[in-house]
Amino acid sequence: MTIHVVNVKALVVKELSILLSLTVYDNCSGGGLLSYSESQSESITGSPASNTNSDVPAKKKVIVLGTGWGGTSFLKDLDASLYDVQVVSPCNYFAFTPLLPSVTCGTVEARSIVEPVRNMVKKRKGDIKFWEAECLKIDHANKTVLCRSNIGNNLVGSGEFSLEYDYLVVAIGAQVNTFNTPGVKEHCHFLKEVEDAQKIRRAVIDCFEKAVLPSLSDEERRTNLHFVVVGGGPTGVEFAAELHDHFQEDLVNLYPSVKDFVNITVIQSGDHILNTFDERISLFAEEKFGRDGIKVQTGRRVISVDDKNITMKAKSTGEIYSVPHGLVIWSTGIATRPVVRDFMEQIGQGKRHVLATNEWLRVKGCESVYAIGDCSSIDQQKIMDDISAIFEAADKDKSGTLTVAELKDVLDDIIVRYPQFELYLKSKHILDLSTLWKDSEGNYREEIDIEGFKMALSHMDSQMKSLPATAQVASQQGEYLARCFNRMHQCEEHPEGPRRFKGSGRHTFLPFRYKHFGQFAPLGGEQAAAELPGDWVAMGHSTQWLWYSVYASKQVSWRTRMLVISDWTRRFIFGRDSSRI
Ligand code: FAD
Ligand code: MG
Repeated sequence: MTIHVVNVKALVVKELSILLSLTVYDNCSGGGLLSYSESQSESITGSPASNTNSDVPAKKKVIVLGTGWGGTSFLKDLDASLYDVQVVSPCNYFAFTPLLPSVTCGTVEARSIVEPVRNMVKKRKGDIKFWEAECLKIDHANKTVLCRSNIGNNLVGSGEFSLEYDYLVVAIGAQVNTFNTPGVKEHCHFLKEVEDAQKIRRAVIDCFEKAVLPSLSDEERRTNLHFVVVGGGPTGVEFAAELHDHFQEDLVNLYPSVKDFVNITVIQSGDHILNTFDERISLFAEEKFGRDGIKVQTGRRVISVDDKNITMKAKSTGEIYSVPHGLVIWSTGIATRPVVRDFMEQIGQGKRHVLATNEWLRVKGCESVYAIGDCSSIDQQKIMDDISAIFEAADKDKSGTLTVAELKDVLDDIIVRYPQFELYLKSKHILDLSTLWKDSEGNYREEIDIEGFKMALSHMDSQMKSLPATAQVASQQGEYLARCFNRMHQCEEHPEGPRRFKGSGRHTFLPFRYKHFGQFAPLGGEQAAAELPGDWVAMGHSTQWLWYSVYASKQVSWRTRMLVISDWTRRFIFGRDSSRI
């Protein structure tokens, strides 16, 4: 096993570069950006028009659905004085999801990782209205959203309302994917929302309190203390590691009589846990879990769960078997929310799995709707779909053939419009474009015709990859979209995007480009693994310290930063609190 512990000095340099580029939210509380208005929305159906002064052109109405990573990042950067902005979300806070696994064991408290939306918007320039409600339906034809508040039924007044929009930003994330596995909804815990993490924290303590009761047999104690994590992705692995630490550092002293009955099992359908990470990290994590006594069962698919047993099938042998459990955490991926699915049906995307946008984050088939974060996926335009148009645009002398010089003239636009072009050249280490002009025998040609051009570019689309469903992607998309909204008028007059190969003129904006700043996997015992830009891999204790500093720096406000750091300090000094509150 090779453990790559990157030298500390290099890590600090790397970390600084991450911090510089990653301070996505630092300014949220930085002040002076927005100002929240308590005034009633004028664009609510049934209320008067949105501008009382008829000389002033009415501001376009922007509705933002969701206050997660995508929604708040958009609001943070939007110049709200340019629009009439309304935000709808059933959560009146933003949750820093990467620390949710830490909440499940009380390493950090739930309130330390949330920031009230009203705190965030009141600091902004312009007028942002927030409605704590859920969007039930997006009515694309009438450009309205139907919403309902879920606030206590004992309070008077109807909670249902509809809002009109000129632009809609859908940032409502995704829901847990159970793959329709029987019993999962009823008998498993999820780890998606803050409430889920709080429920898990109580449930873990319940398992221990029940296991120590005098009336139980050893077998019953063993069952109650069998914690099963379904899903070996970063969230499942981090939870298993947190739970193991909680047990080793706190619970073993509080419940010594049952310490030998505790088992943690991670079930993964693939061949390795953390399989989206570098292979070295997967192996490091598996070996560490092996040493810690966390059982990793790969190549298994859960087929049902009931209140006592979890039943799974071994992929290689087809064997089906059941294991008794005390607690199951289901962490296997995400699915589209019903409101988004209904919207997809309306706009002819019913057959797709995820809401598709173009590279400018505009929903395909909708002029005025944008979607960011986990609820959507960018449908990158294929080079081969536009190949004839590219050829025609590049063939300046209309000779019916293309020289390398002709292609170079439009190269910048091609690279911006079709990023797979550059990725392909990099992956094949092609430095000189004339390499593409070689025929099948490897001879250089002066000019190529359309068929030769198609052949030369035919493998480039294989470089297209969909973006992961992460906070990094969602927040960069929110930021990008806000910048576009802020410069809408300017860029309509002076488009900054690449030329349109199909059609004339230029695109209004540069397309969205994702920058990957790396990813972490905390593995417990003050050790973590990280994949950093430039194919860096770091594992071990120093990486855990890097994790602490990056996650502290990325907190949305100084308030939450202080709370999180003080929670970590408290945990180091006093351990975690095992009260079942
Ligand atoms: P969300 O952040 O989920 O926000 C969705 C918002 O929409 C919420 O405010 C919700 O209340 C609201 N909403 C829901 N339904 C409606 C409705 N009907 N109407 C209006 N509003 C609605 N990513 C990383 O990059 N790094 C990590 O370390 C990491 N760790 C994670 C750990 C856990 C436990 C989890 C669950 C996720 C983690 N992620 C991480 C993934 C990351 O949290 C998501 O990719 C990110 O939250 C997506 O942002 P979003 O804005 O699309 O959705
Ligand atoms: Mg020519």
